[in-house]
Amino acid sequence: MTGNMLVTATPPTPNGELHLGHLSGPYLAADVFARHQRRSGTTVAHLSGIDDHQSYTEARAVREGATAAHVADYYGERIVRAWADSGIRLDVVGRPRALPLHSELTRRIFAELYERGDIVARTRPLPYCVPCDRWAYEAYVSGGCPHCGSQSGGNSCESCGRSNDCADLVEPRCTICGTECETRSCERLYMPLERHRKALEEFWGDTAMNGHLTALCRSLLDDGLPEIAVTHPADWGIEAPVEDFTDQRIYVWFEMAAGYLASAAELGGWQAWWTGDTQVVQFFGYDNGFFHAVLFPAIFSAWDAAITLPKALVSNEFYRLDGSKFSTSRQHAIWLLDALDQTPADHLRLFLCWDRPAAAQSSFTQETFDSFLHGDLLPRWHGWLKDLAHRARTTGTAAADLEPEPAAAERLRARTRRLLELVGEAYSLPDFAPRSAIALLDLLIREAAEAGQDSDHLADVPGLADTHTRCVAAQLSAAAALAMGLYPIAPAMAQQLWAALQLPGDVADVPWDRALEGIEVAAGTGDLSTACALFAPR
Ligand SMILES: [Zn+2]
Ligand SMILES: [Zn+2]
Repeated sequence: MTGNMLVTATPPTPNGELHLGHLSGPYLAADVFARHQRRSGTTVAHLSGIDDHQSYTEARAVREGATAAHVADYYGERIVRAWADSGIRLDVVGRPRALPLHSELTRRIFAELYERGDIVARTRPLPYCVPCDRWAYEAYVSGGCPHCGSQSGGNSCESCGRSNDCADLVEPRCTICGTECETRSCERLYMPLERHRKALEEFWGDTAMNGHLTALCRSLLDDGLPEIAVTHPADWGIEAPVEDFTDQRIYVWFEMAAGYLASAAELGGWQAWWTGDTQVVQFFGYDNGFFHAVLFPAIFSAWDAAITLPKALVSNEFYRLDGSKFSTSRQHAIWLLDALDQTPADHLRLFLCWDRPAAAQSSFTQETFDSFLHGDLLPRWHGWLKDLAHRARTTGTAAADLEPEPAAAERLRARTRRLLELVGEAYSLPDFAPRSAIALLDLLIREAAEAGQDSDHLADVPGLADTHTRCVAAQLSAAAALAMGLYPIAPAMAQQLWAALQLPGDVADVPWDRALEGIEVAAGTGDLSTACALFAPR
């Protein structure tokens, strides 16, 4: 696949540190996907950002007596560092308050949609906290979701993914002081989505998405598409560019649609990435599914029909910790920067790709991490590399031109190619599944190890030493395939193995096609198991 591809991962809220749950979701997945696309000949822009203007950022500041800007800057920096340290390679990190185009474009899109009648004024009830003297929306309110009954924040329910209007929450309470809110009348600006039913139905018909997201979209069609409040009476955020509403702020999820365009503009004009035959692939957690599958495409198609809507929406479910939800406020989390102090980034990446909550929630436990990585996968891979290094040291290279290729070597080369093809599919759409890539690479190592044990019987048989040498060469080629196959998930491990095999340059720069052709490794390679320290189990 060639051409331009834009890969996005939802800008996180800077109201706390990134934890393992965040990494297991869109950030690692988008990074793995983008890395593989790049070496497959696609021009990729991988972008995310920091969602400064979230009310959750301001709410944390209110609780701590700080300013929202201070909280956003502090955690924004920590998030960027956590990405860098965990090997998430982003081309752009959009910073709303540092990027003038971000607010310009947000206000422009908003004003134009208002002029066209896509945004309208509505007077509706909104919870109000009397002791705090504050409107209670989004981060400031919590109550029973009107759709699923779960405890939900304002405007959007994490559990069912449906939007709410705050006043329709059951027993809404202020999240700052805990008081039950009273309901007051408030005039705000709304975006009625029913106007965009046809465009959304067309989009959903064309884009790839999983069953959970499809079910959400279907339920919205059946129940009627909601009207979404796109301004709030607030101080933190971008001022609404509409007369009589300038004391309100634009809903941060409306802002994010424009933010995706503004961030892409950092790479030379947003149109290069959002119009024409570019491919847009968006990664996000299911709790943000409504915004990516419904609100953003409605905004984009209403504002400029030339915008290319995503060809795929890749969503993940919640990742839990010891069975219960990661929670920043309850400090029930393993913070990413802390984890990276103890554990190599690639080990976290490898495990989280394996344990990823793709279609169903999954749960991190230290025991599962240890038993998967140090009790199973790494001992097998490292043991094979050790045996292979021994074989490579004790065989010559004289048999390199032996024709025909011995059947056992031919078989392993064919299997290597077949399994690598499947690994490539596991890194691509529509079958994106990093877990399958790991399972396939593990299968490759098991088969290569067995082929090695089998050919060892030939090593000392008079007249068959050359056959043995060719079998070892096929195993070394399988080791190069492991480096290539592992690269998107564990780039440092892949590079370590690549260098240990004395292959030139950076494994990241090797085209995927070359891996499928088979990469030859000179025999007599040094001590692979020592050189590949990241493969050593604890
Ligand atoms: Zn709900
Ligand atoms: Zn209150």
